[in-house]
Amino acid sequence: MSVNLLNYDADGLAELMIQYGEKPFRAKQLMKWIHQRGEADFAQMTDIAKTFREKLVAGAQVAAPAMLAEQIATDGTTKWLLDVNVGNGIETVFIPEDDRGTLCISSQVGCALDCGFCSTAKQGFNRNLSVGEIIGQLWWAENRLTAEQARIGDVPLEPGGRIVTNVVMMGMGEPLANFENVVAALRLMLDDNAYGLSRRRVTLSTSGIVPAMDRLRDACPVSLAVSLHAPNDAIRDEIVPINKKYPLKELLAACNRYLEKAPRDFITFEYVMLAGVNDQPEHARQLAVLVRDVPCKINLIPWNPFPGADYNRSGRDAILAFRDILNEAGYVATVRKTRGDDIDAACGQLAGQVKDKTRRAARHAMETKPIIFRP
Ligand code: SAH
Repeated sequence: MSVNLLNYDADGLAELMIQYGEKPFRAKQLMKWIHQRGEADFAQMTDIAKTFREKLVAGAQVAAPAMLAEQIATDGTTKWLLDVNVGNGIETVFIPEDDRGTLCISSQVGCALDCGFCSTAKQGFNRNLSVGEIIGQLWWAENRLTAEQARIGDVPLEPGGRIVTNVVMMGMGEPLANFENVVAALRLMLDDNAYGLSRRRVTLSTSGIVPAMDRLRDACPVSLAVSLHAPNDAIRDEIVPINKKYPLKELLAACNRYLEKAPRDFITFEYVMLAGVNDQPEHARQLAVLVRDVPCKINLIPWNPFPGADYNRSGRDAILAFRDILNEAGYVATVRKTRGDDIDAACGQLAGQVKDKTRRAARHAMETKPIIFRP
């Protein structure tokens, strides 16, 4: 069986070189070809000895997930459905802005958590993505976008610069539930021989798996976003069920431990605005007290609808009033701009193609079956 070199971070690749009977520095050369230049064809890697290239051609490959579909929103946000085999597909989203390009990457096929307001959760869960399938999304997007830029004769932001300048682990899945593979992929994002992104420009979002937050702090601290979504345990138990296992007090303590090693001196708290559920002025006041000991910024996310959901987006006035209460209490609170919602690429709208192993999707389909009235 051929090995996929996208599955290896620097250490893994160095070990693989030893197995090939090559010097470890070959790993650095290979990483530069694969990740800096986006090269998949060993024949092009001209500074690598021909005999070794022949071995690679015979036994290795650089294989990113293949594209099944591409959709481009009116605001330029691009969503790709990528094939991860036997009927499973994941979604990756590119969000262009004036001064940066952000790639939103998936970590699992579906999600094993059951946050009722999230479309990915409704799809159920199939499996963790491999390192190659995670970093392959970045490899693939950078190549695709560079080719497109060349085709339309556009000029890069910086000469020779990358199009993807920021990564958010905010696609399908709970990244900290696929810890080892996500960390290896993060290391490649940060590696100067690969993507060379700064820790500040790589953000991982978690629903709050407390022990894994501590492990991430020690293994590979990047910017952290936490899906808080509620001002108290009663509401959070309902909308983010993992809260029953790791309640707010433990979660907030873990945030402060994380900050000891984090590249930024604040945690971003995400707070989805659900009409009548968590968006009242008293919730804002409660939230202001709840997080007062955690250096943070609060990002309010207008809820994005999807078929079969039982929630409604908070009204604009409710969202702005909520933000104002937090601002007046001394917090930096902003409202996340909705991007790509006309192609279902916005937060919480990623569905992909999930061969559900948990039967959750089937259960939800039964729940939302229309009731037929017979006269
Ligand atoms: N599982 C991780 C990564 C998901 S990131 C986490 O929970 O943090 C995506 C963000 O969008 C999370 O904050 C998530 O709670 C939020 N989200 C999910 N569904 C949403 C929806 N329908 N509208 C707006 N935000 C949503």
